[in-house]
Amino acid sequence: MNVILFGPPAAGKGTQAKRLVEARGLVQLSTGDMLRAAIAAGTPLGRTVEALIQRGDLVSDEIVTALVEESLPAAEAGGGAIFDGFPRTLPQAIALDGIISRRRSHIHRVLQLKVDNDVLLDRVSKRFAESGRPDDNPVSFKVRLEIYDRQTAPLLTYYGRSGKLMEIDGMASVDAVGASIRRALVS
Ligand code: AMP
Repeated sequence: MNVILFGPPAAGKGTQAKRLVEARGLVQLSTGDMLRAAIAAGTPLGRTVEALIQRGDLVSDEIVTALVEESLPAAEAGGGAIFDGFPRTLPQAIALDGIISRRRSHIHRVLQLKVDNDVLLDRVSKRFAESGRPDDNPVSFKVRLEIYDRQTAPLLTYYGRSGKLMEIDGMASVDAVGASIRRALVS
């Protein structure tokens, strides 16, 4: 089973992806985690993306698509992928469809975590102090939200047409959101 967790920054995608890893044996594919690991390791990729990520801008479609293409076979062999933070643009969604269909595989569900902007801002301002993420600051977070609204949210129309999109109330407690996700995956 391959699942896309879709939603704005700080909607809880990472938290819920980790729960699915434990509960369902799926494999989390977080392009953000992969890029942060490259930065931490000081690789050429890490040096290329570091400033972009710090500002809250998007990394190129080619870079993130290549990361996903490389890691998908192992994720599917491990039980299926939870895409967390990918795709974020229409070219990425189209590229993912190509990768998936070449593997004769499927996206089973696209789960949209819905959270109001004021709740996101409240959550993230608590996170600014402790996350240690260079893009968890008021200026970069504003950029990330604007990019989400402009470039990522329009993908909801794309996935809405596929009949795989389901809305999840992301403002409930972590456990309640997890329960809604479990129900969505058995329906
Ligand atoms: P995340 O951990 O998903 O919030 O991602 C952190 C940052 O990594 C984003 O703000 C982007 O700079 C970059 N990033 C992660 N995933 C993508 C993606 N699919 N497309 C472009 N940039 C990405």
